[in-house]
Amino acid sequence: MPVEIKVKIKEVIQRNYNVKSFRLEIPGILDFQAGQFLLVKLKDDPQLKRYLSISNSPTEERYLEFTKKLTQSNFSKTLDNLKAGDQVTVAYPFGKFILDESSPKIAFLSGGIGITPIRSICKYVVDKNLGSDIVLVYSNRSAKDVIFKEDFDALAKSYPRLKVAYVLSEAELGFKCIVGRIDLQVIKNEVPDYQERKFYLCGPPQMVEGLHKLLVEELGVAKEMVVTENFQGY
Ligand SMILES: Cc1cc2nc3c(=O)[nH]c(=O)nc-3n(C[C@H](O)[C@H](O)[C@H](O)COP(=O)(O)OP(=O)(O)OC[C@H]3O[C@@H](n4cnc5c(N)ncnc54)[C@H](O)[C@@H]3O)c2cc1C
Repeated sequence: MPVEIKVKIKEVIQRNYNVKSFRLEIPGILDFQAGQFLLVKLKDDPQLKRYLSISNSPTEERYLEFTKKLTQSNFSKTLDNLKAGDQVTVAYPFGKFILDESSPKIAFLSGGIGITPIRSICKYVVDKNLGSDIVLVYSNRSAKDVIFKEDFDALAKSYPRLKVAYVLSEAELGFKCIVGRIDLQVIKNEVPDYQERKFYLCGPPQMVEGLHKLLVEELGVAKEMVVTENFQGY
């Protein structure tokens, strides 16, 4: 059952040039599953509310984190000005983009800010040592758009069953990646056992829709093996 509470911002973390994470002080026990989202309300203005995924894992106790790509909207501008000690109202948890622990093999296909719930799930799997075999294919326009790279590097180091492949539209010297976008060939190369995996897709609706079609119609992946989260608004 979702709860609504007024909470203090504990910390603000600049992730890249236009993405910030906000860590909230949560009193009591954190009750959510990795991959779920919350509703963030700023002030009493009904326009200033957005659904945002929780980007930390329940294993990272004592705070709740959301991560927002900052645009020119009033919500983004107001959020961007908040600092530690300020208050926001959150309602949570919502959503079904959660790990199926009965599936031993998982593939995440993600674009841009759509990485937020996936960061939460991967951290949870590693902290709990669940044993799931994970391939993450994470696409962005350029290296400067990538967030959570240090986290994924650390997770992959301590949990060899996590493999991360970066896909960038624009190549960057020194950044190991596939140049282009997530297409049929990239999936075949990076997820050769795609028939054995449960897929989780998250990102802008157009991308999620395109990848879903590709998996189901071109690769013959069963619909029930594909879980999606659409970030309406991008
Ligand atoms: C389940 C869920 C989880 C999400 N998680 C994240 C997250 O972790 N991080 C993150 O940055 N964003 C996330 N989003 C998207 C977020 O809710 C906002 O829609 C987005 O951040 C744009 O908001 P904005 O205020 O910056 O820009 P806006 O100016 O509000 O949005 C930009 C454009 O999108 C349109 N738009 C905005 N909201 C919607 C909507 N709900 N439906 C259709 N069109 C819309 C606007 O009309 C405008 O054209 C999530 C969305 C959903 C539904």
